[in-house]
Amino acid sequence: MRKLLIATHNQGKVREYRELLADLPVDVTYLDEVGITTEVAETGESFAENAVLKALGYAEMTGLWTWADDSGLEVDVLGGEPGIYSARYGGLQGEQERYNYLLARLADVPDAQRAARFRCVVALAFPDGDAFTASGAIEGTIAHAPRGSNGFGYDPIFEIEHSNLTLAEISSELKNAISHRAKAARSARRILLTLLAELGEDDEAQDRDA
Ligand code: IMP
Repeated sequence: MRKLLIATHNQGKVREYRELLADLPVDVTYLDEVGITTEVAETGESFAENAVLKALGYAEMTGLWTWADDSGLEVDVLGGEPGIYSARYGGLQGEQERYNYLLARLADVPDAQRAARFRCVVALAFPDGDAFTASGAIEGTIAHAPRGSNGFGYDPIFEIEHSNLTLAEISSELKNAISHRAKAARSARRILLTLLAELGEDDEAQDRDA
């Protein structure tokens, strides 16, 4: 069976992606399992550039088809910050410190100007140097104070568009149905399925719900 490397050390992500790809003829593995400790530097200027850098870097290192993602929060009134710097915004270590810093920066910004979105890009790369990307977004606004205890990162301050709820106030099942990561991953899954079928590695591709 075709091996697919998920370019992460995060077990939670590996579990989620394994579930998403469970019915495909791929043997999902990840960095720790294949003994990779080298980090590919995220030197790109966009989520897509970073996802492709990571996916190609590890594909070349291992000779495996590789799936990598990059994601973050974009706040319109801040010109798209924190963006690709979401995980290290303000140079702060803790998730709570980072969202409090963001709330402080938006202290005087009225509701109508608090639009934001989470964005995710999944890149699929191959040892020969080719890569494809799929992206997903979820729209919303930045709340005035954190609410909810589910999720991670900026979830407690992100109010879902057309809803009164933050991403930290909904179940993980619902978040996994509507999130930026879920949307990007479902598109990347379709790309993967098509490539497998074209290579004759998925006999049942015709019958499958891509
Ligand atoms: P990464 O793509 O997993 O490295 O995530 C980058 C950073 O973006 C995370 O450390 C979080 O701060 C933020 N982020 C990405 N996705 C989410 C999400 O679903 N909820 C909250 N924060 C997120």
